Amino acid sequence: MTDHSALHIPRILTPLRLGLLTLAVGVWGCATQSPTMSGLPSRYSVSSDQLVVLTDIEMTKSDPLILELKELRNQVAETLDVPLEERRVVVYLFSNESEYSNYMSEAYPDLPPRRAFFIGSPAELAVYAFNGDQVRVDLRHEYTHGLLHAGLKAVPLWLDEGIAEYFEVTGRDPQRVNVEHAQRLSTAVQNGWRPDLRRLESLEDVAEMHRLDYQESWAWVHFLLHESPDTQMLLINYLNDLRENPDPGSLADRIESEMPHASERLLSYVSGFFMPHATTASF
Ligand SMILES: [Zn+2]
Repeated sequence: MTDHSALHIPRILTPLRLGLLTLAVGVWGCATQSPTMSGLPSRYSVSSDQLVVLTDIEMTKSDPLILELKELRNQVAETLDVPLEERRVVVYLFSNESEYSNYMSEAYPDLPPRRAFFIGSPAELAVYAFNGDQVRVDLRHEYTHGLLHAGLKAVPLWLDEGIAEYFEVTGRDPQRVNVEHAQRLSTAVQNGWRPDLRRLESLEDVAEMHRLDYQESWAWVHFLLHESPDTQMLLINYLNDLRENPDPGSLADRIESEMPHASERLLSYVSGFFMPHATTASF
């Protein structure tokens, strides 16, 4: 599982902030200049729906990675009821880590070295990643950001990351439990940690977000999507509003008015991941 120690975007994207948006596996940073085109992989271009993968690795439309991202697009659309958009999400998939790192340090010198980035701007929704052990997880995570930003006016920071963490999980387990997150949250609960969605909503900067915040973001998304049809609909309705309105208000407010004792319910939900009845083969 990836180390998403610090990823973020502004909670509500103002027009000013929409200028450039950067999210990453491992960290978020503010890019201050446009990338040069030199050094970008370009030998093969594989398109699938709104996905365009540019890479120097020989690749066809039937590559398992392409098929997985194609399926992911449908999963995101179906699960969250977000529209299947046409806007391209371009994935620059480097052959190896050094080519990727060399390019990123030259094109985005202000960004810290991390395994993958999603960089959104009015001109392009772009993912930068390299072909390594974690490429599936990285691309699932970053492409999910791309799909959300192609279809929504804005996405609150914690929700953007919670959803990306949710969909990065590989495999066909319909429960989509991020085992590492579940284990760490379970330990945190035993040590007295308690969920606080309003605090998560107040986070607007990566410097404020720590690993536990990503885990809690994932947990709220998982809880809302799996606890009951009502909680699922609550999240879907909120995302629906974000299609047209970049600032539809606080999701915590809606949860509080529609779900009594939501934090307690989340706590018990998280604690239940490792109860015997919840144990599955994937653990
Ligand atoms: Zn992310």
